[in-house]
Formats: sequence, C-alpha cells, structure tokens
Amino acid sequence: MTTKPIPICGKHKVLKEWRPTTFEYSDEGISIRVPNVYAWVCPRDGEASFTPEIVDELIDTVNELIKTAKRARERRSVLTEYIVSVA
Ligand SMILES: [Zn+2]
Repeated sequence: MTTKPIPICGKHKVLKEWRPTTFEYSDEGISIRVPNVYAWVCPRDGEASFTPEIVDELIDTVNELIKTAKRARERRSVLTEYIVSVA
C-alpha cells in the first residue's frame, strides 16, 4: 500500500489521505454502515475511494447483511437495528 503513489482527488486537486472511514449503503429502506474501513479519503469533502480488495469484501458483507435484514422484515421483527463486530 505504501509503495503506491498517493492518489489525488480529481475534483479538489488535493492529495487524498489513507485513513479509516465509514462505508454506507442504503437500498429499499435497508441501510448498512461499516465503520473503520481504511480508504483513500479526500480531506475536503470526505469522499472515500476503497481499494478493489476492500470493495470485494464490502460487497460480500453487504449482500449477507441485506439477506438478514430482509428476513427480519418479512417476519416483522421488532428488532430493527443490529451492531455486529468481529474480533
Ligand atoms: Zn475532493
């Protein structure tokens, strides 16, 4: 990671920063937040560019969580928010 050049934000013409950010996804009334994901972040507007490896992981994770959320909605669960972490 450190051997690659630092990307520049095309909109603001500033160097991006490699730091943790929160990935957010929302569709059909289901929203998913994944905090503390490292990405190249524009210091001006906070827009994050995730690496391809992390994007793959995020897609898999979001797909799994959407299945869980849709099952909960189908059975009209009273539980509407979950926080899950892996040690
Ligand atoms: Zn920017």
